[in-house]
Amino acid sequence: MFDVVVVGAGFSGLQAAITAQQAGLSVVVLEARDRIGGKIWSVPLASGRGYADLGGAWVNVNLQKRVGAYMKKFSLKTVEQRLEGRAVMQEAADERFEFPFGVTPSDWTDEEKENLAKIRDHIQAESLKPGPPRVEDDNVSLEQYIRNLGAGPKTIKMVNLWARVMHGVESSEYSAAWFIDYCRCNHGLLAIRADDSSGGQHLRFRDGSQSLANVLASLVGPSNIYLSSPIATIEDLSTHTIVTTTTGKTFTARKCIISIPSTMYKELNIQPPLPPRVQEITNATVLGDYNKAIVCYDRPWWRDSGFNGYFASFSGPVILGRDTSVDEVRHYSLTCFVNGKEGREWSKLIPHERRAEVIKQLAKVFNAGDKNDHEVYKPIEVFDQVWQHERYSRGALAPITALGHMTQFADVYGKPVGNLHFVGTEYSKEWRGYMEGALCSGEVGATEVVKALGGRGRASL
Ligand SMILES: Cc1cc2nc3c(=O)[nH]c(=O)nc-3n(C[C@H](O)[C@H](O)[C@H](O)COP(=O)(O)OP(=O)(O)OC[C@H]3O[C@@H](n4cnc5c(N)ncnc54)[C@H](O)[C@@H]3O)c2cc1C
Repeated sequence: MFDVVVVGAGFSGLQAAITAQQAGLSVVVLEARDRIGGKIWSVPLASGRGYADLGGAWVNVNLQKRVGAYMKKFSLKTVEQRLEGRAVMQEAADERFEFPFGVTPSDWTDEEKENLAKIRDHIQAESLKPGPPRVEDDNVSLEQYIRNLGAGPKTIKMVNLWARVMHGVESSEYSAAWFIDYCRCNHGLLAIRADDSSGGQHLRFRDGSQSLANVLASLVGPSNIYLSSPIATIEDLSTHTIVTTTTGKTFTARKCIISIPSTMYKELNIQPPLPPRVQEITNATVLGDYNKAIVCYDRPWWRDSGFNGYFASFSGPVILGRDTSVDEVRHYSLTCFVNGKEGREWSKLIPHERRAEVIKQLAKVFNAGDKNDHEVYKPIEVFDQVWQHERYSRGALAPITALGHMTQFADVYGKPVGNLHFVGTEYSKEWRGYMEGALCSGEVGATEVVKALGGRGRASL
């Protein structure tokens, strides 16, 4: 019998295993996929010029202490997000304008700019206030919340863009309290949106985020991780748990840590079933449409015209793009997020149509014209990753609770049930939705298990 069986080898599951092992517990990790990392997935480029990060990519080593400590300890190389140059705002399919990166789009009237600043500053202030989310904010959608504050049409579109970029949903589809609390866990709205050293998009891993997943797996020990082992059933027998995989293997452990997104608990066939209130909140969580198209080129042609590669769009299908090149290895790419309602429609297309749509939009955004001889039409590699199509992810970034549920079920959400403990970036109080959040939750969940087993946890790093 093991002390702990961990379900899932994403960042939260791997960190939970490490923390439990450091406290002297025996651990086995069961992973459905034939790879570790979950929503972290770095794919080598056919050109040999580095990796494409199809899932999580950006980190901030100063604000995200666990990620930062691993990167330092294991000398993982980073690339700073390139900011120099002009950005582009696409307000409608045929309406684009350029602006200096980092300022509010300049074709807005003073009144429109003031209106956006008022709403942004309000959310920022709310997100810096400590305390639990308010029931009244949880019962109203983010869109309605800002309308009540007097948001004008352009501000409503901009906040909807934030919702799409940050969570893959529309601002009308989730609660204001969830949005504000997410910002609260992540140093406030402005830190989440920032691409410089003050925010979440400051650095990327030179060799892909998978390099950190590999470090975590090596610490757990490859022989303690069973890949291609989807869970068929979990039985909690009060003194121990029995976890059976669809491949017919059975693992017995004193405690079970479940690290998969709560939206998918219903597929685990847990016996006895989770309490009704736990089922009510977890069955209703949703995973956003959060997709990436990564277009790789032989050279960074957009820089020739003074663009830094950043653009945002109200019209889509791409709602935001960034330069994700690693110049050192001659990897030149634009990473395009195709999220929210736009992503939902785009994901229904067949792959070559998806790619064509993205390239057509890049041509418009960067003024490349429609003649096929421009470099925009000649990528050397294109990836289109639809996370909703991934059987063991079903969307991203992290599950979002239904309207009113966050406050109504706060007493049970993510709390242990018998010998079952729950981790995942969705439960983190620090950098929820991020790699750092997954590490934080894994650490907290394993510490909870160590305590329940009467052991003493040691610091994880
Ligand atoms: C497109 C995209 C962009 C992102 N950008 C960033 C970013 O720039 N910066 C950042 O910090 N974060 C980013 N994230 C978020 C980050 O990737 C996640 O927060 C983090 O990886 C979540 O880790 P987790 O362990 O909570 O969940 P997961 O990674 O989902 O891990 C769950 C694991 O459980 C496994 N599993 C599922 N079902 C079963 C089953 N039945 N049996 C056994 N195993 C199962 C899964 O295969 C997976 O390995 C991004 C994510 C996506 C998708």
